[in-house]
Amino acid sequence: MRGLAKGLKYTLNQLTKKKVTYNYPEEPLPLPDRFRGIQKFYPEKCIVCNQCSNICPTDCIELTGKKHPDPTKKGKIIDTYDINFEICILCDLCTEVCPTEAIIMTNNFELATYSRDDLFKNLEWLDENDTNIRKENKA
Ligand code: SF4
Ligand code: SF4
Repeated sequence: MRGLAKGLKYTLNQLTKKKVTYNYPEEPLPLPDRFRGIQKFYPEKCIVCNQCSNICPTDCIELTGKKHPDPTKKGKIIDTYDINFEICILCDLCTEVCPTEAIIMTNNFELATYSRDDLFKNLEWLDENDTNIRKENKA
């Protein structure tokens, strides 16, 4: 009887304490601002300098550029930009080296899928990956 009362007291005490679990996936997990999640890409900011792809330790970035369609403007614009998330280690080096902040890390981390092919993300997908952007990178 004494043990039951002791157990009940403990349970009742826990009811008033702050929850340590989250209702995931219904509610997003609060993540630290420096969390390194799946990248967001801004095609209009990219100057096709290749620095991100050159520094990438796993060679998972492939990009191509083309001549600027406006003959009065110099340089290139981005044509295709792909990241293979099968091998990306989310190390942040590509975003650190980008001179125009065309690629930034977000707080998104959900990439689970049944097909490996789905882990190849192209320019359009990376451009639309614009939720959960780190506070410091918000325009
Ligand atoms: S986060 Fe690292 S591994 Fe992933 S694309 Fe950027 S440089 Fe490559
Ligand atoms: S480093 Fe930045 S500007 Fe250069 S190619 Fe990569 S994303 Fe584009």
